[in-house]
Amino acid sequence: MASFYLQGPAIFRSISVSASSNGVPSSTQQGGPVFLELPLDKIRRPLMRTRANDPQKVQELMDSIKEIGLQVPIDVLEVDGVFYGFSGCHRYEAHQRLGLPTIRCKVRRGTKETLRHHLR
Ligand code: ADP
Repeated sequence: MASFYLQGPAIFRSISVSASSNGVPSSTQQGGPVFLELPLDKIRRPLMRTRANDPQKVQELMDSIKEIGLQVPIDVLEVDGVFYGFSGCHRYEAHQRLGLPTIRCKVRRGTKETLRHHLR
């Protein structure tokens, strides 16, 4: 399987990313988070219907992201190759409304137990 390294600023550790069957890279972590640009539709948001965003915040973020781009990636949990987002809701919606196909994510690996904990 082909693998390559992403280079970035010092805070973004070099990561190994390999191709996966659904076309989204799967992070092979050695401890810390990895930074990936993920398609919005590959991030499951189980709590989306239970938490409403502040429309004014979203609009302000849209204006800012259009101007200077996303400055802080959203946190994403990866469990068995599936990506879950529980926070970063306003940034996610701002990307959706701007029609951006991908969003920069800070991805941590977790277990099913971690996932259950988030869903509690
Ligand atoms: P969210 O639900 O996305 O966390 P918040 O309004 O609580 O929304 O926080 C917005 C976050 O977006 C802040 O942490 C801020 O640092 C971050 N951010 C990233 N990129 C930008 C940007 N271009 N302009 C303003 N805030 C940004």
